Amino acid sequence: MDQDTKTPPAFAVEHLTVRYPSERGWVQAIRDVSLQVERGKLVGLAGESGSGKSTLVLAATRVIRPPQVAVDGQSFINGRSILNLRDAELRKMRWSTFSFVTQSAMNALNPVMRLRDQMRDTIRAHDRSYQPSVADARAREVMDMVELPSSKLLSYPHQLSGGQRQRAVIALALLLRPDLIVMDEPTTALDVVVQREIIDLIRRLQNDQGFAVVLITHDLSLLLEVAHHVIVLYGGRVMEAGPAEQLVENPLHPYSQALMHSFPPLHGAVSAQVGIPGAPPDMVSPPPGCPFAPRCDRVMGICRTTMPLLQTVGQVDVACHLMNDQNREVKTL
Ligand code: SF4
Repeated sequence: MDQDTKTPPAFAVEHLTVRYPSERGWVQAIRDVSLQVERGKLVGLAGESGSGKSTLVLAATRVIRPPQVAVDGQSFINGRSILNLRDAELRKMRWSTFSFVTQSAMNALNPVMRLRDQMRDTIRAHDRSYQPSVADARAREVMDMVELPSSKLLSYPHQLSGGQRQRAVIALALLLRPDLIVMDEPTTALDVVVQREIIDLIRRLQNDQGFAVVLITHDLSLLLEVAHHVIVLYGGRVMEAGPAEQLVENPLHPYSQALMHSFPPLHGAVSAQVGIPGAPPDMVSPPPGCPFAPRCDRVMGICRTTMPLLQTVGQVDVACHLMNDQNREVKTL
């Protein structure tokens, strides 16, 4: 991150490495990952389950922390170093500077509290001059933003449909006007029609309010529709990162290409979906070279021994030996 710029990015990660203990040894979940999310931008993290998407963000925001994980590197929110922050300072920043929308709304909402009371509690925890009437006015505002009637503030979570609950979680995330919202698979538990509504809502809110979003999903085709920038992770490493339209038109990494072919396109002609053979690597003892080598149909000798470094090709960064000059011929085969 450029520390000299006047306005730091909403979120930045520098050379982050995350390991967590397991019965079989240390799981190398994230390996030397760097990224930036500017204000007003929606950056997507894509990859299969186990690629490290959620671990990356949860460790960088200290939702998971030692001794659950060992973390090296740095993370910043609005230029403040999160990994070095005192607990009390971090508590102040949660919900007010950055907030979360989780996959399962039922896990995010307290099942025995009305929505209004959950919102009052959140505001009270951050505002010394808390007044219920002011808190309720803000609660009505955010309900309006997510297109839920304010009468639903008196509902318990189980009285709402799945889509309404997910809107309520988004409303809660917006409550204290954060600069960054992390959305972890926010549509996975929903049917396709409601998924579409929620994605449209996120896009509109992000445009109107100008907060930064990190959107985590395994569905690359969905991400390419809403994200400004996409980062494809595999084996805890960045495989490809660049503007979303670039990845739609011309994904360069074999893993990005395989991911693209494994989901039906949201627009255009229906095409056959092809699964990616094999399984993600065992991160207790990941392959010494490219983590995708055991599944890649263009694997070369060097791929099995040497980790490809990220290199810039046009507008994107790609970690693949096919991008090396001497292998370009192989790439075009
Ligand atoms: Fe495939 Fe080799 Fe590129 Fe890895 S480095 S994606 S194994 S071609």
